[in-house]
Amino acid sequence: MTRLIATIIIGLTLLCGGHADTKGTIVNYQCVRCGTLLRLDHTPASQGCRAGGQHRWQELGALGRDYYSCRRCNTLVEVSAEPTDQGCPAKGRHEWNRLGHMGDTHYRCDRCLLEVTCNRTPSPTGCAQGGRHVWHRTDN
Ligand SMILES: [Zn+2]
Ligand SMILES: [Zn+2]
Ligand SMILES: [Zn+2]
Repeated sequence: MTRLIATIIIGLTLLCGGHADTKGTIVNYQCVRCGTLLRLDHTPASQGCRAGGQHRWQELGALGRDYYSCRRCNTLVEVSAEPTDQGCPAKGRHEWNRLGHMGDTHYRCDRCLLEVTCNRTPSPTGCAQGGRHVWHRTDN
């Protein structure tokens, strides 16, 4: 019962929060130029790119509970389906690998330093440092 109430409150907060024109779908946006990753329900502002000038935003996919990482630019995203390969900040196309589904246990790769919370050891494929991820559980 408590959980149900909490779910309703979170739902209302999402509905009421943010902009009036919200459609409720949170999307991962990444700037192709500086690599900044944002989760929003609308296209972010273009001012203030760290690479100089304006951001150039690429939609990677809707927010979800699967982790994907790109072996080229080391971007980590939480999405509901495989992200688009368009617009890797490391030039060209992203090369995504699915690391796993969101869970309760915290893991970090010793090599590329990505951190995820999964129920089982994430996939070793596609570490940005070359070769395989080396995942260790971290207790916290
Ligand atoms: Zn940018
Ligand atoms: Zn990439
Ligand atoms: Zn790694």
